[in-house]
Amino acid sequence: MINLKNVTKIYRSGNLTCTALNNISINLEDKGFVMVLGPSGCGKTTLLNILGGLDNDYEGELLVNGKSVLDFKDENFDSYRNQYVGFIFQNYYLIPHLTVYDNVAITLEMSSNKENMKEKVLSVLKEVGLEDKIGAYPKALSGGQKQRVAIARALISSPYIVLADEPTGALDSKSAESIMSLLKEISTSRLVVMVTHNKEFAYKYGTRIISMLDGQIVDDSDSKKETQNKDTKKLKKVKIPFLTSFKWGFKNLFNKKVRSALTVIAGSVGIIGMGLILSLTSGIYDYIGDAQGTSLGKYPVTVTSYTKTSSEGNKDELIEYPDTDYIIVEKGDMTIQEHYNYFQNDFFTYLEGLDPNLYTIKDSNSYINFQVITNNNEKYEKISPNYFTQIVDNEQFISEQYDCLLGKVPTSLNELAIVVDTYNRIDASLLESLGFNIEEDKIYFSDLISDKEYRFIDNNDYYIKGDGDKYYVYGDNHYQRLYEESNTSLKIVGVLREKKNSRTPLYGPGILYTPEFTSFVKEQARESDIVKEQLECGLSKDVYTGLPFETRVSGNYSYSATYQYEQRLVNIGYQEVVTQLYFYTDNFDDRLAIIDYIEKYEVDEESPIIIRTYDYIELVTNEFSLLVSLFSNIMLVFAIVFILVSAVLIGILIYISVIERKKEIGLLRSLGARKKDITMMFLLESSAIGICSGILGIIGAALLNKPVSGVVKSMIAIYTTSMLSSTPVNIDNFRWWVAPLMLLISIVVTLIAGLIPAIKASKKDPIESLKEDGQ
Ligand code: ADP
Ligand code: MG
Repeated sequence: MINLKNVTKIYRSGNLTCTALNNISINLEDKGFVMVLGPSGCGKTTLLNILGGLDNDYEGELLVNGKSVLDFKDENFDSYRNQYVGFIFQNYYLIPHLTVYDNVAITLEMSSNKENMKEKVLSVLKEVGLEDKIGAYPKALSGGQKQRVAIARALISSPYIVLADEPTGALDSKSAESIMSLLKEISTSRLVVMVTHNKEFAYKYGTRIISMLDGQIVDDSDSKKETQNKDTKKLKKVKIPFLTSFKWGFKNLFNKKVRSALTVIAGSVGIIGMGLILSLTSGIYDYIGDAQGTSLGKYPVTVTSYTKTSSEGNKDELIEYPDTDYIIVEKGDMTIQEHYNYFQNDFFTYLEGLDPNLYTIKDSNSYINFQVITNNNEKYEKISPNYFTQIVDNEQFISEQYDCLLGKVPTSLNELAIVVDTYNRIDASLLESLGFNIEEDKIYFSDLISDKEYRFIDNNDYYIKGDGDKYYVYGDNHYQRLYEESNTSLKIVGVLREKKNSRTPLYGPGILYTPEFTSFVKEQARESDIVKEQLECGLSKDVYTGLPFETRVSGNYSYSATYQYEQRLVNIGYQEVVTQLYFYTDNFDDRLAIIDYIEKYEVDEESPIIIRTYDYIELVTNEFSLLVSLFSNIMLVFAIVFILVSAVLIGILIYISVIERKKEIGLLRSLGARKKDITMMFLLESSAIGICSGILGIIGAALLNKPVSGVVKSMIAIYTTSMLSSTPVNIDNFRWWVAPLMLLISIVVTLIAGLIPAIKASKKDPIESLKEDGQ
């Protein structure tokens, strides 16, 4: 039994008020067909809304089986609508993207009462005569059939009261009659309250007729006394389950294929950008790591005792790294590499304090004194050993740092190479002593690599023991004979120039010989008379003067006997002098520690020794990764802009969807859906879009990764040095670990985009939502 007691409903808008119901009291029994008659605007719909628990804002009281609903919360009203009431509307309000079955099942889907759902749906559909339309969509049904589906939906939860607001208003008379008989039949087992202004129907089918006018009951054909009903079914909580919401959301999206596809595409654009940037950037960082890792093994920290002095001379109008096949004879003041600045013992003593755990291998390069004579058009001359440097015993290093302009890199004891500066220049005096005609401004490479031979002179042939128990050297009038008697000849086999991106100034313009030649020179010196004798005598005799070594003062410097003795051993080719040190490490921290230690070595201001440490890998890769992070940050900004734009697009599309589905929202609310459920439904729909655009984004990024990586690679090629390019750039493959991240970002972005429309939707007043426009 449902009772209304002294109900008054006043609509207020601004300072206008409208009394829709004026102190109405009605007692309704558990069965029967109650007709509410009256002209438009007399308050019939308002009355139904109050009875159905849609409108809770009024004066007076509604009692359900003797229990007042005054203390009902929103949630209780939701359950009340879901389980006690069945609504039937003039315009059916079927959800277009759900089948007949799903439309009818909505009420049960929301309640926790899902047992035998299928059978229940089938049985109510049978009751309304539509069991054969179970899989059809609303658009395939006639008006009468639609209203039958709506009736089935109202009956499925076995409500106490069925409320029908002009259910035949939109139907032709034949369909209307059949709907009326159906409702009449239903009213034999439960209470049906129907609002109509069709008097004929009211009197033909109604068991009780209540006439209204201006918000008041003017006539009641069968007014009842208030009675109590014993057993009332307990109200259960309503909740649209997650999966159901998701299913409905997906069905709606599927129903609006074109728009959904557009939204998904809009959403995926930013995700594609984001994914590509993440994947490529990670690829590039991996590549830098690899390049650094492999470089560690190949490129040591280099400490050199000399500097490569930049060749000044006259370089106006000269181009760097020319493609020409000749060298330029530099007649100006062009300093060549000085390597007499070798390390002194106190530096080596200092180096002993370096933690040996910091490096894996320590290596060095040395200078050694020797005699080489050239035949310059029958003019025989000695070439100063200062023009010579030993090439590093590391072929890969050379091929990566130097271009071989002609010929090859020397590999055997008899082979020499010429190093030119970046303008292809060489100092005239060096060329002259090598026996070339320096009248010309240029010398072709092919002329450099000629049959010209340089001859090495053995210590025993060069130093002659004379009077006074001391050695002397032959004058240049003997050079031709020494040249002809020598059987060790040297030949220039290649012209080298440092690569464009090389940062290793190991060799200035000059001549390079091989480590094999060094060994050879040392060996013959060790076997020579002058060296043997000097070693035997020690400090007691200088083989040059025949006198003992004594401390000598020259200017501000004083040279000890030992120092002079050591210099003599260098001079006669026994003792080599370390000019470069190499420290190989297996990680970057060690490199930094070594450099740090060496740079702390205090060099005497006036000492001619200059110590330079080079760690070009560090320099190059740092510069490069700075570039990469700059680039990827810029791209990230673009991607974020893209994502924001697509988020706005998604938000707008969902907002439009909310507006369009006003009726659906109203209907779901009238069937008991909570505000939360509506919010959740739209959020899930957004996240469905998010998942789709995420997946599309992943596919797009994976497909675009290859062509885009091509572009990025060509950019890398511009910036990488020869050293970095020795490691293959592997960014062609899409990094799949970014995929879940992309999916997550996509879902989060669409959820945020959908949040405002979803909250807006849930706040919609169901009564307003269900009102026909203009009514
Ligand atoms: P009926 O269904 O009998 O045509 P209603 O119950 O819909 O009448 O409306 C009763 C009265 O309340 C009408 O005068 C109508 O203009 C007014 N009314 C209905 N809804 C609102 C509203 N939301 N705001 C202001 N007045 C309203
Ligand atoms: Mg009405």
